Amino acid sequence: MNTVFLLLGSNLGNRHFYMHEAIKLIEADIAPVLKTSSVYETQSWGKTDAPDYLNQVIVIETGFPAHEILRRILGIELVLGRVREEKWGSRTIDIDILFYGNDIIDDQELTVPHPGLHKRRFVLEPLAEIAPDLTHPVINKTILMIKNELKDDLIVKKL
Ligand code: ADP
Ligand code: MG
Repeated sequence: MNTVFLLLGSNLGNRHFYMHEAIKLIEADIAPVLKTSSVYETQSWGKTDAPDYLNQVIVIETGFPAHEILRRILGIELVLGRVREEKWGSRTIDIDILFYGNDIIDDQELTVPHPGLHKRRFVLEPLAEIAPDLTHPVINKTILMIKNELKDDLIVKKL
């Protein structure tokens, strides 16, 4: 079994509804959710004129390979009505794989640990809430250390 950290994000429509539905579908299609961070509201990253996001980190434990999790996640995004338009465009739901155990993956479909996570407050705040002592297998620092060194000053507030 592998401990897998996922990041949920939504900035379109009934954001709380999409976050809840995503968790239900992850439990139905992938594995029980063992831990969840609080929900955070964050300024849109990249496209700053877009609506604010809700973000939440969740933990599952699964025997599925990482690419199978990705396949299932993309299916859940489709079910929840995500339409892929522009890069960083608004979305009903975005589900990203942050960590897959200590594995390091970098191929056409998948980069794990997620390449942006150590630079983004909207990931590190919820992640530090539930896993401050987790060591990033590429950077070799704990989540708390990475968060404390962070320069990103977008506003991320716990709801
Ligand atoms: P983003 O999450 O960066 O806003 P998308 O959600 O549109 O972008 O994802 C586009 C593609 O990113 C996915 O189809 C997937 O193949 C790829 N990808 C690479 N690494 C990851 C990861 N760690 N988690 C989720 N998707 C990833
Ligand atoms: Mg994504």
